[in-house]
Amino acid sequence: MRLVLVGPPGSGKGTQAEMLVDKFGLTCIGTGAMLRDAIARGTEMGRQVKPLMDQGLLVPDPIVNDVVAEFFRSSARPEKFVMDGYPRTYSQAIAFDALLRQQFLALDAVINLTIADDEVVKRISGRRCCPKPDCGVCYNVNYRGTKVPGKCDRCGADLVLRDDDKEETVRRRLHEFYRNTDALINHYRHQNLVRDVPATDTGEAIYANILAALKKVA
Ligand code: ADP
Repeated sequence: MRLVLVGPPGSGKGTQAEMLVDKFGLTCIGTGAMLRDAIARGTEMGRQVKPLMDQGLLVPDPIVNDVVAEFFRSSARPEKFVMDGYPRTYSQAIAFDALLRQQFLALDAVINLTIADDEVVKRISGRRCCPKPDCGVCYNVNYRGTKVPGKCDRCGADLVLRDDDKEETVRRRLHEFYRNTDALINHYRHQNLVRDVPATDTGEAIYANILAALKKVA
């Protein structure tokens, strides 16, 4: 199984990728994690991308394309995989198509997690996290409350709404996401690879939707 997983922030994409990895024995290729690893190792590329990532900006296409191509050309080359966070732009999709052709690998499906902006805003802006670095547990006023309102169940600290999770920021990130991914989804739609999967329900229900969509592939 060779999959690309596309979903806006707050769609639970990471959780779904993990479940697919367990079920089908896939390698998860997460470009965010790869770039963070380069920063942690202090490579030249890591130094270059750190300021962009700190600001939540996309890393230039040629850099991410290289990171992914290197991985596929290394001895770690995966036969079965799920792409988490790549390709994220049309130009990355074109580069990835070329790489896969060169590697004699073909995609089976592009899972497109669909969710209304208002639902994402409700999910994310309800998040309240413990600010203590050694605790950091997150709750949600809409889904996962705390025993004492506004206090961390684990350590009792006052919970906060992170800047990242504020409605205005979330809407900006969503706008950015669709600006970059609309053309990419269209590109894969022309290849008949896209499976639209509603991502409004619980994690388990979304996962069931993905498996149902994949049955049509296998
Ligand atoms: P998020 O879902 O919050 O964006 P990720 O772990 O997927 O988290 O990515 C973290 C950061 O890494 C992004 O904000 C971006 O700077 C960079 N990044 C990851 N994947 C890509 C990509 N495909 N293209 C450009 N930048 C990327």
